[in-house]
Amino acid sequence: ISFKYTNKHSIQNKLWTDTIMTHVFHRHPKQSLPTAVAGEGITLIDQNGKRYIDASGGAAVSCLGHSHPEVIAAIHQQIDAVAYAHTSFFTNEPAEQLAQFLAQRAPGDLDYVYFVSGGSEAIEAALKLARQYFVEKQQPSRRLFIARRQSYHGNTLGALAIGGNAWRRAPFLPLLTEAHHVSPCYPYRDQGADESDHAYATRLADELEQKILQLGPENVAAFVAETVVGATAGVLVPVPGYLQAIRRVCDQYGVLLILDEVMCGMGRTGHLFACAEDEVTPDILTIAKGLGAGYQPIGAMLASRRIYQTLVDGSGFFQHGHTYMGHATACAAALAVQQVIERDQLLHNVRVRGQQLRQGLHQTLSAHPNVGDIRGRGLMVGIELVADKQSKTPLDHHAKTHTQLRRVAMDKGLLMYPMGGTVDGVHGDHILLAPPFICTAQDIDHIVELVSATIFEVLPFTHQPVAL
Ligand code: PMP
Repeated sequence: ISFKYTNKHSIQNKLWTDTIMTHVFHRHPKQSLPTAVAGEGITLIDQNGKRYIDASGGAAVSCLGHSHPEVIAAIHQQIDAVAYAHTSFFTNEPAEQLAQFLAQRAPGDLDYVYFVSGGSEAIEAALKLARQYFVEKQQPSRRLFIARRQSYHGNTLGALAIGGNAWRRAPFLPLLTEAHHVSPCYPYRDQGADESDHAYATRLADELEQKILQLGPENVAAFVAETVVGATAGVLVPVPGYLQAIRRVCDQYGVLLILDEVMCGMGRTGHLFACAEDEVTPDILTIAKGLGAGYQPIGAMLASRRIYQTLVDGSGFFQHGHTYMGHATACAAALAVQQVIERDQLLHNVRVRGQQLRQGLHQTLSAHPNVGDIRGRGLMVGIELVADKQSKTPLDHHAKTHTQLRRVAMDKGLLMYPMGGTVDGVHGDHILLAPPFICTAQDIDHIVELVSATIFEVLPFTHQPVAL
């Protein structure tokens, strides 16, 4: 298999200038950004021909790298047939095939797939489905959602309401619906030195149980959690037994379990569905980023047979929908992405390269006084930066270290996703690495080198990185 794809459009044909007046409503209007004009495998290329290794896959999206010829061909083929037909009138072949592909591989009885255009939309659909399920079951008092602090489930109002990122929520608080939060599974900061994984998992499950009892089980619709956390607290891998303990508590009180795998799903952790590794099946599961791998905007919600059947036997329909749901071209792209990943056995590569990445980072960075923790699963790897390793004091947020890291990394031709911000009053700087599944051993060595060089430049330390 060749892991290098070449974009047939030449860079010269797409020259763009830095000085052009922009009418795009950029999120950070004061920031000047290069223009992406081409992509080749794990590399993105800007208007000046500068090359960047996409070590974060954007934000854990581009799992097949850029310009994959088979995905491009599948998109062309679908557009030639029919690009889009509204789901009020038609179903389409790629949506049917992709749903079948996912349902056959999903754990338990997650047999029904609802296609949307991204992660936040998948979460909104999950929340509304959980609510409608209880309305149909004649339990209309079940309307509350419990999620976790230091979590992120999207930026639309419903997703933001359940999310636990205080900084993102603050300006919008008056608009957010009631949601309740419990502690995340954050071993680096929260697990006692003498506390076993089992004891820690039990403590967190007890906290959820107490929250359910406090709210009244008859009022709680669902508990929402990322299987492996991505966007808010660096990467957080649950301790063994945590998700199973959570599942038991949910079952005991008739609360639905919604697992958000928008970032960690679709192979990112080395398993198509991250929860399969924890041997837990949620009632509702959300996926997005790696599903279409960035070739088309697509997300999905998978629902259990029991939930689906309740709606079928009740009102007969799901009171929700979007214009672009089940988009034929988006589904065709995602189907091609998933077929390539399976055919080329890339999840094996994810597990092997993920281990290499973590080992390499440990080797070059663990002596650095500001590198508090390196953790992850598969090719979803987080680095937590601290001011002091002993006390785990976060870096001073005035320094905006994450912004400097992004800039210096880009200067070096590396894309990594640094995250910073105040979460529940605690500032944290983290780096997310999520390279494409097609990375070779040499690519990983190169990424380790560049990440280490970036950290050593932004956070100088007298010793130099250890050579691999
Ligand atoms: N859930 C999780 C776990 C995410 O990581 C994200 C995106 N970072 C979302 C939801 C929201 O997805 P989107 O940005 O596609 O709306």
